[in-house]
Amino acid sequence: MKVAVVGGGVMGAATAWRLAKRGADVVVYDRHSPPHALGSSHGESRIIRTAYFEGSWYVPLLQEVFGLWRELEGISGKRLLTMTGALMIGGESSENVAGALAAAKEHHLDAEFLDTEALRRRYRGHVVRAGDVAVLDRQAGILNPDASVAALLAHVPHVESETEVRSISDLRGRFDRVVVAAGPWTPELIDWLPLSVERQVHGWFSFARDAEAGSWFTPDRFPAFVRFSDESGFMYGIPSLDGKTVLTSKYMRGVSGHVTRTLTCMYTNTPDGHFVIDFSPEDRSVVVISACSGHGFKFGPVIGDIAADLVLDGGTRRDISRFSAARFAPSPHVPHHDGHRDQ
Ligand SMILES: Cc1cc2nc3c(=O)[nH]c(=O)nc-3n(C[C@H](O)[C@H](O)[C@H](O)COP(=O)(O)OP(=O)(O)OC[C@H]3O[C@@H](n4cnc5c(N)ncnc54)[C@H](O)[C@@H]3O)c2cc1C
Repeated sequence: MKVAVVGGGVMGAATAWRLAKRGADVVVYDRHSPPHALGSSHGESRIIRTAYFEGSWYVPLLQEVFGLWRELEGISGKRLLTMTGALMIGGESSENVAGALAAAKEHHLDAEFLDTEALRRRYRGHVVRAGDVAVLDRQAGILNPDASVAALLAHVPHVESETEVRSISDLRGRFDRVVVAAGPWTPELIDWLPLSVERQVHGWFSFARDAEAGSWFTPDRFPAFVRFSDESGFMYGIPSLDGKTVLTSKYMRGVSGHVTRTLTCMYTNTPDGHFVIDFSPEDRSVVVISACSGHGFKFGPVIGDIAADLVLDGGTRRDISRFSAARFAPSPHVPHHDGHRDQ
């Protein structure tokens, strides 16, 4: 089967890897030269975790994806995943703490609840205030996105870089199937999905002049984290990967306010923050992946495998019912009970 994949970011590259592995004749088109720093899949770190507060229905996919990342490491000889654990920090009823705890209980995950005292004692890099607690998710760590996308593309036989796809119908004539994984550019090709693009900036801060501080942020002592507070909302960070700086916020101890570097990147958000992995309602030979909303990278290989299932088998054994495009389809008009139709 001849398959065109639009987009060489983590979603398109992973899809092409899984399709090629299953013998499909696949071509990836990218408007830039992937891996590149103009979309959503670049930089030195992405958090991967399992006690998923966004929804426990993601957990089976996460339990599967670690094996696929290790498979990619095996065939590429590259270290892509560093296990550090992850802390969900906040008040006991905050979405990330309560959601991670619920997912951990439902799926019997390797996770631990830390009360305020335990959190303060064990993780000195964090400013811990009264009422702050945490869930330590041990099946979690950091992926290297630049190395990961390069490793994926190294296992894709045919990549057409600097080649912009202007319309899906251009490809439909030449290929049996088309996969659209265009990230923040998806709205240019798909007009029936309500997506919004959001600019994001990562910042690295140098350690404070406190001799001890640096030792608080090493990967073995400082899990990646997602923190929620009423006044600042969600923030996240990872341990120091260079021994000098840390990706952080004002909720840290031993960190100066000095920003040493930044990185810009883009989220592609759906209205409910969950993914779209589905056939096009207009043409079942077109599969659309919009799996971002700021949390898609970790799922790359398993979403790629699901997309390969949809392309080659017309369906998949995984439960992707929550990722259907139909949930955003405009609901058929219901006349108001007052008899007046909306204008
Ligand atoms: C700052 C930041 C932090 C994040 N942190 C995390 C995290 O910790 N954990 C996590 O799991 N996720 C995280 N994410 C989300 C994750 O990075 C994204 O979900 C993921 O990278 C999306 O990949 P993609 O392949 O869909 O998009 P992209 O990587 O943007 O790929 C789309 C590709 O399509 C190409 N393209 C577009 N239009 C066309 C066209 N018409 N013709 C040809 N090619 C085209 C582009 O050039 C691009 O290469 C983060 C994202 C950001 C921005």
